[in-house]
Order: sequence, then structure tokens, then C-alpha cells
Amino acid sequence: MTPAAYVQLDLEAVRHNLSQVKRYAPNNKIMAVIKANAYGHGITRVARALDQADGLAVARVDEGVRLRKAGFNQSITVLQGFVCIDELQLMLQHQLDAVIHTSQQIDILQQQTGSASSLSVWLKMDTGMNRLGFKGHDFNAAYNQLLHCTIVKQPINLITHFANADDLLDDKTRRQIDVFNHAIQGYPGQRSIANSAGIIGWPNVISDWVRPGLMLYGCSPFAGKTGAHFGLKPVMSLHSRLIAVKNVAAGETVGYSGTWECPVDTRLGVISIGYGDGYHRHTRCGAPVLVNDLRVPLIGRVSMDMITVDLNSQPTAKPGDPVTLWGNQLPVEEIALHADTIPYTLLCGITQRVQIVER
Ligand SMILES: *Cc1c(COP(=O)(O)O)cnc(C)c1O
Repeated sequence: MTPAAYVQLDLEAVRHNLSQVKRYAPNNKIMAVIKANAYGHGITRVARALDQADGLAVARVDEGVRLRKAGFNQSITVLQGFVCIDELQLMLQHQLDAVIHTSQQIDILQQQTGSASSLSVWLKMDTGMNRLGFKGHDFNAAYNQLLHCTIVKQPINLITHFANADDLLDDKTRRQIDVFNHAIQGYPGQRSIANSAGIIGWPNVISDWVRPGLMLYGCSPFAGKTGAHFGLKPVMSLHSRLIAVKNVAAGETVGYSGTWECPVDTRLGVISIGYGDGYHRHTRCGAPVLVNDLRVPLIGRVSMDMITVDLNSQPTAKPGDPVTLWGNQLPVEEIALHADTIPYTLLCGITQRVQIVER
């Protein structure tokens, strides 16, 4: 029996994609980004597949603690750092490395009298993203303050983040690199700049650590391209099955609000997947769905538990037949375009009720 909605994870593909990162950035160490439950793939199983990475990165302290409790002992960087003393204590207890991006964090560090050099830090520069980090002279001032925090391990590492690296024609990225390099001249710490788009699109960036996320999961950070284009293999495929097949006459409408009117007599397939599983509600009619490994178009609105497709091209399709929503033969990047979103949100959006099958 084909199970209801399930995700198949190819953890060999994670290893393969990591080796591709090494090919793109041969002179860098790799901090593998596994925030948000490893982009929806499951943080511990992905961390296990990434044993060849030099370190791991998560967004929040609780994600790092979870990894430590599961027994991972490589370096783990918390990209948002801590926001209060309690969180700092947790980071120290679990040996998590902190990104320092705001003066309140430095105030907290200055009050600490705990064991010397116990916290590894990445000082974050805001080079134009205007999200986290210090700008201009504030960056250098923060650096000097950290030099005098006894709890901080020296040297202080240096980090920034690209805003537009997925647009190869935007010279903002070049300016971000220049601003960063200029500000950190002479500082002895390790440097980290590039995310996936930076790694693939801006290969001449000089740094010590890269921070790939999306590409580890086999996706392209560039719109209009798929991971395969860059030698990457998709890790996640989303599957379900047909649960009903029926004939609907020309002129009848399908689904909520009757947004689809059948232009011809239509053999309609109902598939057990919906936004309650993470299949995006805004996926448009015409989006491809694989039924028996062949493409058919989505018609009608996506509902919570079901979608409907046009099976006129498959006169023998029947309930129980296998369906792929994205995966090997159907890149999630392509589905993201049909849903006016990016592959990140589709991968992250898989919900609890979807069964996970590793292979
Ligand atoms: C999420 C994140 C990354 C990884 O980005 P991808 O586009 O998924 O490669 C790298 N650095 C920081 C600071 C991030 O927040």
C-alpha cells in the first residue's frame, strides 16, 4: 500500500551536496547551516549526515542545546547569539559559539566574571543587510570592547551576511565584501561571509569559513535554476497517492470558490496532500504534479487535505497510484515558482503529520 502523505529523505544526497560545497570553496572550512530543523529535514538526522562538515550553525540557542543533548560535539555556532544572561549561561554550559551583533550582548559579557576565555564569538558586521550586526565605527568599537571581556576567547572571529548574493548583477554584494574587508584589516580572527548564493555566485570572496544552507539540501539559491544545474542532488521528495478518480463535465467548477471551470470533460484525480501537509495553498493551477511518474497539471484550489489534478492524459490512473509533489523528477524550485515563493519555505513548511522515510 502506498502510504498517505510522506517525505522521503536521501541522506546520501546531503553528503554529496557537502562534497560539492567543498568543490566550490576548497580553501574554506564549512559551517553547515541546519537551523529551522535543518530546513524541515530533521536536525539530528541531517547533523549525522554532515559529520564531514567542520562545524554546524543554528539560528537559536535551543537548537544548539538540542544538538548537544543528541551527542554532537563539533563546533556549533548560534547565529542569533544570546539575548539574556540565562541564554548566555546555557551557551557556556553547552559550549555553543555566539554571534555578537548588538551592544546589549556586550553589556552582558562585560558583567561576566566566569571562567576566562570560555566563549568563542563571531562579531557580526552589518555591511548592508540592515538586520543584525554593527556598522562602521560601532563595529570597531565593539571589537575593542570584546578584546577586554575576559570571558571571551581570543581571537574574535568576524562575520557578515549577504543581502542580495542571489542577484549576480547587483554590485551590492561587491560593496558588502569591500566594506567588510576594509573594516577587519589587521584583525587576526577567522572570517566568514558567504551563504549558498555567495559560495556559488561569488567564488572569489576571500574568507576562512563558508555557511551553506540551502545548497546542502540540493536546491539552487538562484531563481530560474535548479540544484542539478550546480551539481546538487535534492534531499527531500514529497509523495502521496491518488484517492479518487472521477469524471467532471465541461463547464463544471472544481474545488472551493469554484476557481477552476473545466474547459472540457475532465477526468479528475483527487490526491491526499494539502496545505495541512505543507503543500503551499497558493500553488497555482497548472503547477506540475507527478502521477505514476508522469506530469499532470494541478487544477482548482489547494485545500487542507487534498488537491485535484487533470488526469485526461492518464485514462488508466486509479486510486492508490503513487504521486510525487516534488523531488527527483520534479524540482522543488519549480513548484516554488508556481506558488510565488522560494524553495526554502516549501522545505521548511512540511508539517508534523507527514511521515518521514529515510533511505
Ligand atoms: C540561514 C543563514 C545562512 C545559510 O543561508 P543559505 O541561503 O540557506 O545558504 C548563512 N548565514 C546566515 C547568517 C544565515 O542566517
